[in-house]
Amino acid sequence: MEKTLFQKIIDREIPATIEYEDDHVIAIRDIAPSAPVHLLIIPKPVIASIDALRDPDAELVGRVFIVARDLARKFGISQNGYRIVTNCNEDGGQTVFHLHFHLLGGEPLGRMNSSAGSHVPVANAAAAPASQPRVQPRMLRDIALFMLVSIGLAVGFNAMNPKAIAWIKPQFERQTATQTDIDKYLQTAPPVPQREIIQQAPTAATPAENTVAASPTAVPSQAPASKADASQPLPTAVKTAEPAFSPEPGIIREITYDMFVRLLEGTKQYLIDARGADKFAQGHISGAVNFYGGEVQSRIPDLLSSVPRDRVVLIYCDGGECELSHHVADVLKQFGYGPIFIYTGGWAEWTSKRK
Ligand code: AMP
Repeated sequence: MEKTLFQKIIDREIPATIEYEDDHVIAIRDIAPSAPVHLLIIPKPVIASIDALRDPDAELVGRVFIVARDLARKFGISQNGYRIVTNCNEDGGQTVFHLHFHLLGGEPLGRMNSSAGSHVPVANAAAAPASQPRVQPRMLRDIALFMLVSIGLAVGFNAMNPKAIAWIKPQFERQTATQTDIDKYLQTAPPVPQREIIQQAPTAATPAENTVAASPTAVPSQAPASKADASQPLPTAVKTAEPAFSPEPGIIREITYDMFVRLLEGTKQYLIDARGADKFAQGHISGAVNFYGGEVQSRIPDLLSSVPRDRVVLIYCDGGECELSHHVADVLKQFGYGPIFIYTGGWAEWTSKRK
């Protein structure tokens, strides 16, 4: 009968690093270690496996464990702990049919049923007949395939979805408005005597609902206008009741709640709600017109025909990053609209402030 590999090592026909030897047991370093300390403790008599043990071998096996204990101490792994394993026959993953015990340690080996520390030496992994190594690559391949299909579907769905998520987060112009910017579009002149606050007679160019009072004490144009005596000549020093519109094409600024309210109440403005139609339907700021920022690119003609050029444009969405508002603002900017103000608090802040 041909000698086993370990018999050849015992007989010094094959080299090995021998860590311990007596008349009954030899311990060598495993040629393909699965842990920092990986020794093979081999009874010298040729016993094929645990299954081939006879009752009289009990003492020999006991000796193996005593040697293992001493080697663990010698290699400094007894305190932290170690594992002793023997593989039996094919399902046990045995490759050398000369009884031997693996002594493994020097690092946390994990639980027996975890992959960490499980004894599949790299050098033997391909040849190992155990079923586990054959199943794992198939599982990994299936998982990879599943993930690829999922990613493919997600990409395809996103590409066809009108509310598609941008691959690259767009960089928006984020300039914050100052009070001076706001004042520019409001009448900042000191309060004037009531008689000097003259309402501009509504004309086609300035519909009554868009005219505003000149000072905080002034009242909206409709009321005094209705009381205006047409027979009385207008005073010579006429002040218009609404701030003059000074266009600033291409200017987008972000504004706070207070600025938003001032502009809303004090300017000739066009208010856009850039949220989705469903949210708009659930509630929106009075007077707002809905243009969903996610679809604005496909509705540019609609947008341009709706937004008058002689207005300050105010836009809001949910608040926060204000991406939807910025999408709308960017289109308007490209077509020469401005000034454009984005209320960054958006619907979320508006509703909390107005409770
Ligand atoms: P088993 O797979 O449980 O039968 O263990 C056999 C062990 O022998 C494996 O861990 C191999 O890495 C180890 N081995 C194979 N050839 C040698 C060798 N020439 N010297 C030391 N260890 C070896």
